[in-house]
Amino acid sequence: MANAIKIDKPQKIRLKDYDPNEKGKTNKESSEAEIQSLSEEINQLQDLLYAAQTHSVLIVLQAPDTGGKDGTITHVMAAVNPLGCSVASFKVPSTLEASHDFLWRIHQQTPGKGNMTIFNRSHYEDVLVTKVHGLIDEKTCKKRYDHIKNFEAMLADSNTIIMKFYLMISKDEQEKRLKAREADPSKAWKLSAGDWKERELWDKYMGAYEDAIGATAAPNAPWYIIPGNYKWYRNLAIATTIRDTLAAYKGEWEDALKKIGEERLKELKEARAGSDRA
Ligand code: AMP
Ligand code: MG
Repeated sequence: MANAIKIDKPQKIRLKDYDPNEKGKTNKESSEAEIQSLSEEINQLQDLLYAAQTHSVLIVLQAPDTGGKDGTITHVMAAVNPLGCSVASFKVPSTLEASHDFLWRIHQQTPGKGNMTIFNRSHYEDVLVTKVHGLIDEKTCKKRYDHIKNFEAMLADSNTIIMKFYLMISKDEQEKRLKAREADPSKAWKLSAGDWKERELWDKYMGAYEDAIGATAAPNAPWYIIPGNYKWYRNLAIATTIRDTLAAYKGEWEDALKKIGEERLKELKEARAGSDRA
């Protein structure tokens, strides 16, 4: 059992209150079987989501560099049918993207009904990296929190199930992971000199995350803080959150499917009756 820390209303956040080394009563070995069984459940729930066509699912992943976004995506994608799932990665905005409002490129990638989209970084970069580097002032940042809240409320009103994950690692763990990338030629492609530079701004990033999470948490767009120093615990906590969130819709999706099935059978019967008369 691994539990994410759910933040679902605006509040003051202090990340220091949470332990990135949290691993509950789990261990690497026992978590593997648990993740396997959660993955099977998520797969079945996603099948229902895909067939019922009533909701979409948006998973937002934010983390410091080396925080585990890629590893999380690998795990989530392994659990779902790629037919109904996609990943959207957001990098430094292109000239075209930067010439629009900050949500323009984001809205183009939100999931349609029946689909699940994972955001690998997101609109939150526009209140994190931009704030830390002083590219926007405090007033603009606060306005952006409001725009984000309204945008996510609109998505939720359009039946988008939103889960926002902050993968929390410690500064020491980040150093370990950056050094591991340097030492392993097969991981070196992930290295970026920029990661060491951004690391110098660690405290400012933590402050920006605290403000962003605290300002934009909402019942229909909750944040989940995930202790991430132990990768298996991170995967377990995320899989549990996704399973629990989707499971709440199971009955609704099954009802929708039953209805669709009945309508299709009725149509088929009528079509056959029509062709018999002809
Ligand atoms: P990576 O995820 O390692 O490929 O790096 C992507 C880079 O793009 C990170 O350094 C992000 O901070 C940066 N990035 C993503 N979105 C934005 C944004 N809206 N404004 C500025 N930088 C961004
Ligand atoms: Mg990077």
